[in-house]
Amino acid sequence: MDVDDPSPRAGGVGADPPRIRRLEESVVNRIAAGEVIQRPSSAVKELVENSLDAGASTVSVTVKDGGLKLIQVSDDGHGIRFDDLPILCERHTTSKLSTYEDMQTIKSMGFRGEALASMTYVGHVTVTTITEGQLHGYRVSYKDGVMENEPKPCAAVKGTQIMVENLFYNMVARRKTLQNSNDDYPKIVDFISRFAVHHINVTFSCRKHAANRADVHSASTSSRLDAIRNVYGASVVRDLMEIEVSDENAGDAVFKMDGYISNANYVAKKITMILFINDRLVDCTSLKRAIEFVYSATLPQASKPFIYMSINLPSEHVDVNIHPTKKEVSLLNQERIIEIIKNTIEEKLRSSNTTRLFQTQAVNPSALIQANTQKEKGTDVKMASGMTSQKTPVSQMVRTDPRNPSGRLHTYWHGQSSNLEKKTDLVSVRNVVRSRRNPKDACDLSSRHELITEVDSHCHPGLLEVVKNCTYVGLADEVFALIQHNTRLYLVNVVNVSKELMYQQALCRFGNFNAIQLSEPAPLQELLLMALKDDELMGDENDEEKMEIAEVNSEILKENTEMINEYFSIHVDKDGNLTRLPVVLDQYTPDMDRLPEFVLTMGNDVTWDDEKECFRTVAAAIGNFYALHPPILPNPSGSGIQLYKKNKDSMASGEHVDNTDEDDIDQELLAEAETAWSQREWTIQHVLFPSMRLFLKPPKSMATDGTFVQVASLEKLYRIFERC
Ligand code: ADP
Ligand code: MG
Repeated sequence: MDVDDPSPRAGGVGADPPRIRRLEESVVNRIAAGEVIQRPSSAVKELVENSLDAGASTVSVTVKDGGLKLIQVSDDGHGIRFDDLPILCERHTTSKLSTYEDMQTIKSMGFRGEALASMTYVGHVTVTTITEGQLHGYRVSYKDGVMENEPKPCAAVKGTQIMVENLFYNMVARRKTLQNSNDDYPKIVDFISRFAVHHINVTFSCRKHAANRADVHSASTSSRLDAIRNVYGASVVRDLMEIEVSDENAGDAVFKMDGYISNANYVAKKITMILFINDRLVDCTSLKRAIEFVYSATLPQASKPFIYMSINLPSEHVDVNIHPTKKEVSLLNQERIIEIIKNTIEEKLRSSNTTRLFQTQAVNPSALIQANTQKEKGTDVKMASGMTSQKTPVSQMVRTDPRNPSGRLHTYWHGQSSNLEKKTDLVSVRNVVRSRRNPKDACDLSSRHELITEVDSHCHPGLLEVVKNCTYVGLADEVFALIQHNTRLYLVNVVNVSKELMYQQALCRFGNFNAIQLSEPAPLQELLLMALKDDELMGDENDEEKMEIAEVNSEILKENTEMINEYFSIHVDKDGNLTRLPVVLDQYTPDMDRLPEFVLTMGNDVTWDDEKECFRTVAAAIGNFYALHPPILPNPSGSGIQLYKKNKDSMASGEHVDNTDEDDIDQELLAEAETAWSQREWTIQHVLFPSMRLFLKPPKSMATDGTFVQVASLEKLYRIFERC
C-alpha cells in the first residue's frame, strides 16, 4: 500500500482516513446561507420581518419570476444609520440582540443577524435607506457579506428599500429545482396575506413586477375581521366565530389566545391555519393536527377549517431559537396549551353546531362503504379505503415500552392526519342527506338538550381529569385496558366506557350524522329472526312466536322510520330493509355481527311515545351496538387457538395444547378471528382513547361500578422498591 498517497479513498479496509481541512469562510457562509434562505419566499419573509421590526406602517413587496429575478421590499420604518452600512450584511451583525440572555426577552422577529448576510451570499443585494432628519438617503450594493462600493447619496423617501436580484445565481441545482417546481409567488402572496391579517395597523401590498394590480392589498384597520375580509374575502368572514381563552388555573394568566375559527358552514379542501405566537408567524404541526382532528371529529362534514390564532406567552416560555428560519418555536407546557385550545375549539363548535345551515351533499356511489349481507352471520361491513387496509402488526400497536411514545396522543395526531389526507374522499363518502329543518324540530332539540345537560351534570370531575390526561398503556385482557394518569395506574372497562362514549356522541351528533351505507339492504325481519334465534331465553321450539315478534318489531321500526332516519341516520327503506347506519365516531364502524341484536333492541327496548325517553333509548341502543365489545369469535391467542380446531373430538379427548397441527386448524376462521381481535385492539388505542380524551364526560357511576379501578400508585411502588 502506498502510504504517501494523499488522495481520498472510498474508505476500504486499510485505506488512509481522508484529511480533515478547514473550509474557506466563503464556502461556510454560502452553505449556511442556503439554509436560512431556502427559497424566494423565505427571503421575502425575512425582509418583511425586518420592515416590521423597523416599525414600518407600510410594507410593499414586488416580485419578478417568482422571486428568482427580483424581490423588492420597501418600508417606511426607521431606516439604517449611515455608519452601520459597512457591516449591515456581514454575518451575525444585528441591532436587536447583544447578549445571549437578551434572547429570553426578545420581542423583535429577527435576532440572528443572518438574513441579509445570507442573501448577499446567494444573490445580489442593494439597499437604499434614509434615517429621520437626513436630507438624502444612501444606496449601496453588497456581495458575499461586504459592500461592493462606498454608499452613494441618493434621493429617498422615508424608510428602507431592499432589492435582491438573481437569487441562487451561484447555486445551480437550487435554481433549477425552483425553476422547475411551481413558482414561489403563491407562497409569497400567502405569507403577506398572513402578515396582513395579524398586523392590522400596517398596510401591506404585494404585486408582480410591472403588474397594475396588487394581489394583496390591505389597508390599515382597527378590525381583525375587516383585515381578514380584505385578504380572504367576505365569504370566509361570514363563517367565522371569535374565539378566546386564557390560562385559568394560574393566578397570573401566562397564556392567552384569541382569534377566529370557521364554523360548520365553512367549506374548504385544505386547512388554512394562520398562527402567530408572540407576534411571530410560525408553524406548530401538533397544534394544527389537533385542531384538524377536533374539526373532523365534531363536525359531520369534516370540512377543513380556517383558523387565525394569536397566542401570547411570557417570552421566557418560548424558545425561538430552534429553527434556522425561526419557522417553528418551542413552548413551555406545549401539550397543556394544545389541550386547552383544543377543548375551547371543541366547545365552540359544539355550541355553534345547532345553528348550522344544512346543505345536501350528493352521495358518491363509487366511494360508498361496501357491505355484504351474509345470511349466516349477519351483515359484514368492510370500509372501501378504511380499517381493513390499515391493519398494523399487533406488535406495533400496543405501547409496551413507556419510552416509545407510539401510544400517546400526539403521535396519534400524526397518523390521524395522514389518514385523513389519504382519505379525503371519505368526505364524499359521507352521505349527508338531511331534511330541511321545520318548526317542529326546534322543540325536538330541547329534549335532546335536556339529555345533554344530564350528561354534563352527571359528569365526575375527577374521572374527567383522568380521562383527559391519561396515557394509554395497553390492553390488560379482553375487557380491561391499562391507563396511566400522573403516578397512578387504572384498569378501565373498555366496553363500559365505549358504550357511554357512543351514547354521548349519538346525542351530540343528533340530526347531524354522516352515514355508513350498507351496499346491500338488510331485511329487518331476517335480522330480527336471527337475533331471536340467538336469544337463549326464547328456546328453540316456538318458531311461530318468533316470527310474530319479528313481524311486530319490524312494523314498529317501519312506522318510526322517518324519525330515526332524520335524527339518527338509521334508514329503513320502503320494503323494510335497513340501508344506512350513523357514523358515531369518525373512522369507526361497529361490529356488524351485532347488527341483529341492535335491531331487536330497537324494536324491544325503545320507548316510542315519549320524545325525550325515545331519544335516550335510541341513543342507548346505538351506544350498546357501537361499543367495543369483544368480538363474537373467541380470542385465538394462546390456548384459544384450540377453539379453531376442525376436529373437535381431539379436544374432547384432552389432547395437549401444543399439539396443534396446522392442518387441524380452520385457517379461514382463525384469520378472521385474528383480524377482528387485532382490529379491535387498534381501534381501542387509536380511535377510542383519543376520542375519549376529547369527548367523554364520565358519569359519576363509573367511579364505583368497576369501570375505573385504580390498581397501583407508582409513589407507593417506589417506596416499596426503595425498601428492597
Ligand atoms: P436580524 O433581523 O436578525 O437582526 P438581519 O440580517 O435580518 O438580522 O438584519 C440585520 C440588521 O439590519 C437588523 O438588525 C436591522 O438593524 C437592520 N435592518 C435590516 N432591515 C432593515 C429595515 N428594513 N429597516 C431598518 N433596519 C433594517
Ligand atoms: Mg431579520
